[in-house]
Order: sequence, then structure tokens, then C-alpha cells
Amino acid sequence: MSVKVRFAPSPTGKLHVGNVRTALINWLFARAHGGQFVLRIDDTDLARSTAAFEQGIEDDLTWLGLVWDERFNQSKRFDRYEAAAERLKAAGRLYPCYETGDELDRRRKVQLSRGLPPIYDRAALDLTDAEKAAYEAEGRKPHWRFRLEGKRVAWEDLARGHAEVDTASMSDPVLIREDGLFLYTLPSVVDDIEMAITHVIRGEDHVTNTGAQIEIFEALGGPIPDFGHTTLLVGADGQALSKRIGSLSISEMREMGYEPIAITSHLGRIGTSDPLEVGESVEALGQSFAFAKMGRSPARYDTADLDRLNAQALHAMPYEVARARLAALDCDLGEAFWTLMRQNLQKFDDVKALAVLVRGPVTPVIEDPAFAAAALAVLPETLDETAWSTWTNAVKESTGAKGKALFMPLRHILTGQAHGPDMATLVPMIGRDRIVQRLKGEAA
Ligand code: GLU
Repeated sequence: MSVKVRFAPSPTGKLHVGNVRTALINWLFARAHGGQFVLRIDDTDLARSTAAFEQGIEDDLTWLGLVWDERFNQSKRFDRYEAAAERLKAAGRLYPCYETGDELDRRRKVQLSRGLPPIYDRAALDLTDAEKAAYEAEGRKPHWRFRLEGKRVAWEDLARGHAEVDTASMSDPVLIREDGLFLYTLPSVVDDIEMAITHVIRGEDHVTNTGAQIEIFEALGGPIPDFGHTTLLVGADGQALSKRIGSLSISEMREMGYEPIAITSHLGRIGTSDPLEVGESVEALGQSFAFAKMGRSPARYDTADLDRLNAQALHAMPYEVARARLAALDCDLGEAFWTLMRQNLQKFDDVKALAVLVRGPVTPVIEDPAFAAAALAVLPETLDETAWSTWTNAVKESTGAKGKALFMPLRHILTGQAHGPDMATLVPMIGRDRIVQRLKGEAA
């Protein structure tokens, strides 16, 4: 059997870390099994779906490297959903209901006050044709509910192991609203059947839906895919993910300077037994992905881990990969420059400040002008890779300074800062003229 999965966002908002993790796990699973990844745009709600959000979803997935093999919009398939609804009606599984929201609320309150579960009482099943006609004459339009069998629906969940939902404890789900809108439940099943989806992988907030949807798969004649419900993300403290992080969009994370591979490595590996290290590529993450590595406990989203992975990704980034981005920032100062500077990056754009160290202007910080003058007096003529050790030895001899007292003032003078890249490599890059100027206290 060849694996086919889908990621099914609604284009009513931006992708954020939670739903991107669902996309990612689907994608990784497809890659791990040499399968296909389908992007399904769940835009049956035409009033809330926008082309801009749809484009944003595609841009984000593309940026993350989660390319799709196929894509389609539910809004182009209403005829398929109508046909399925007709079949369910004919089979007596989809029935019209005329209650208003207020009426349903009132009934729920009564049930709760009697200590009963607030489940739809199926009063509409008893309506006579005359009663229905009377409602229609009043101008009421029906919404349509799927009649559940009310049984234990069980499946072997990829992520949770044996799972069961008792559909007797659920209200018959509304599949079509009174305004004719197809809610997500039915179109999703119709598409999963017609697109031959083999595995439905989504967040554990869908477990109950799965119970109802398996009954719909059965009513429509299946086949029933396998299901995997991933645990929800929690924050570093183990509590529910904060609103701030949970609502962070991928485009915002991109603007914050996160590398796609840091995001995919982080979201793909938290909550698994794999070490939390940056992957070589999203493909490579796919090769090593397995549900067996996923624990049942929630996946901890810690920004400090993401930051660490981001730095790791930059520290390992080859010059050929960085080059165009360096050029775009007007910071392509060659391979040696990149190889030195990448070690100091937390975010790619930090390189702009590091380029200033090389080409200036740097305002030197000179605490002791006599020390600076003494250092200038013994500055080697040629600044090659051995120059730093020759020079610092000479400065040590002439001033008597050693250790931190020797190195820190030189770093301050040459870079204007207390921390930064390895001086032995940096000094030849700065070049002798600028070094002379900085030793004289001039901004250069
Ligand atoms: N559009 C649905 C959602 O975003 C899809 C759920 C599913 O994967 O079946 O919740």
C-alpha cells in the first residue's frame, strides 16, 4: 500500500506553530514511507476563507520545505459533497432538524439541570411530514444531522495506540447548516475516500470527530484510513502553550529570523525520542521519522531549544548556502569571513553587525592610550594567520600585560566590543590600515 496523507488547513487565518506541526508530521510520515503529501484547502466556509490566507499557507509551507505532491480546494467540490449527502439522506442517516440555536440551548440547560449529558435528543427524527411542512412555511430552513449508530468505535491509533470513542455519548453531528454550508465533517470524509487517503494524521483535539467520521466512512462505504492523533504542544513549563507562542505565525517567526530547518527540526523532534538537534535537511528529518519514537506525553515547546537549534543551523551552514543571502544584505565578504562569523550568529542578520567589524566603521574603545600606542609600535607589517600571536607576544613584552589584561584592551580597541569572533582570524580580515587607525583612536 502506498502512503497518501493530507494536510487540511482552513484558509481563515495564518499557519501557526500548532497547525504547522500537523503539516510537518504528515509530511515527514509521507517521506518516511515514500508516500504522497496532499495539501487540501478546507474552504467550504466561503465567507471566512480568503485568497490571501490561502496564499499565505502555501508560502509558509514552501518556505519550510514542505512541498506538496497534489493540492485542491474543497470549494471546487460541492457537487461531490451534495452527492454524498443525498446518499446519506436516502439511507436515513442524514435527517433534517428545525430547532433554532436558542431552542437547543434551552434544552441543553434543562438536561444539565437534571444531571443528564447535554446530548441532542433526536426530537427531529419524530417530526411528521406535516410538522416539517409547517416549519418550512414559517420560513425555517433545516440543518442536517448525521444519525450516529451509538456504539463503540475503535481504531489502532498511530500515535495513541488502541483508541475508542463511544458515539452513544455524542450528539448527532450537524453536517449541513441551515444556510446550506457544509461543515468540515462530511467533506473531509468524502475527500479522504475519493483521494484514497491512507492515513489521517491530525491533532488530538480531533479524537471525538474521528469516532463520528469513522461512522460516516462506514455509511459511505469506506475504505477507512488509519488515524494518528498527535499530542498537543505545551509550553516549557509543561502548561498549556502560551497564547503568545501558540498564536505565533510562521511568517512572524520568519521575520524574527528563525531558519526553516530550525523550526522543522524543533517541531518534528519535540516529544520524540530523537535528540533535539538540528537536522541536515527536512528530507533527512523525514528519513528518520517514526511514530514509534513519539511518546504519549505532550510535546514541550521551549523557545530556548528553538534558539539553540537556530544557532546550530547557522553554525553549520555552508558558504554556498549562505552566499545569496549575504549578498542580499550586502555582507558577502567571502568564504573565510562567513566561516569565521557563522560561529557567532544566533540569527542570520547578526552578520550585518559582524561585517561592520571587518569593513568599519568601528569606534574603538581605548581605556589606556599608552597601551594602544605601544601596541601600534609593534604591529607586524604583514597580517597573516600567525600575526595575532606574534603581535600579542610583542605587546606583552613591551607592556608587561598578559592574559585578560592583554587581550581585552586589544579586542576593545579593534572591535569596540567586549565579545566577538576569534581575533587571530579577524585581524587579517580587518586589514592593516584600519587597524592602525583604530589603534590611533580613529573610527575606521
Ligand atoms: N480543516 C480541519 C482543521 O483544520 C482539518 C482537520 C483534519 O485534518 O481532518 O481542523
